[in-house]
Amino acid sequence: MGKYELILADADETIFDFAMTERTAMDRLVQELSGDVPEEVLRAEYHRINGAIWKEVELGTMDTRRLRAERFRRLFDALGLGHSPDDFGERFISYLSTGTFLLEGAEEFCRTVSARIPIIIVTNGIADVQRSRIERSAVRPYIRDIIISEEVGASKPDARMFDAAFAAAGRMDRSRVLMIGDSLSSDILGGMRYGIDTCWVNPRGLPNTLPDAPTYQIKSIAELSDGMT
Ligand SMILES: [Mg+2]
Repeated sequence: MGKYELILADADETIFDFAMTERTAMDRLVQELSGDVPEEVLRAEYHRINGAIWKEVELGTMDTRRLRAERFRRLFDALGLGHSPDDFGERFISYLSTGTFLLEGAEEFCRTVSARIPIIIVTNGIADVQRSRIERSAVRPYIRDIIISEEVGASKPDARMFDAAFAAAGRMDRSRVLMIGDSLSSDILGGMRYGIDTCWVNPRGLPNTLPDAPTYQIKSIAELSDGMT
């Protein structure tokens, strides 16, 4: 692993515990909508709709500006609720923006690795949410730059995200760059197409569904702290 001179790291479920952030934000939303619909139904429907809408973002058929209200429009339609999707969309953004929970070992990884080589975060997400969370988090001092899809105007696996990271890093040999992430369809496929090595964070041991294998596969970013230094 010592050959790398730049690390591109996905944010959510790679360094940040987004599941926790989302759960905390959902808890507030559930309280506000309590009585309207059973909690389990609300959570399950939200996850189904949100998962589908982020796939549309990866495919380029949905953008994150529209997504904010659209996921609540679909949720309220599915549940027959008459609330304002715009209002709840923005409220949810503000709840998500405060979630800085890190995955175990992530802070140590960023601290040790950044002492030797730069780390750039490359994330598909809503700019307000991601920037606010990353800026307030404990890993901020170790991150050279933050590339967010909403600001780039394209989402991983699109090469423009990697172009933006390379532009931020300065001249860099692709063989010396590693992309680390938990998503096969955005992080790993994007890295492969860009011609850089990839490291798949796969905590549940899911099967690889891509035609090629990632360069490395790990259960958690904590496994990398030793190998990188
Ligand atoms: Mg991720």
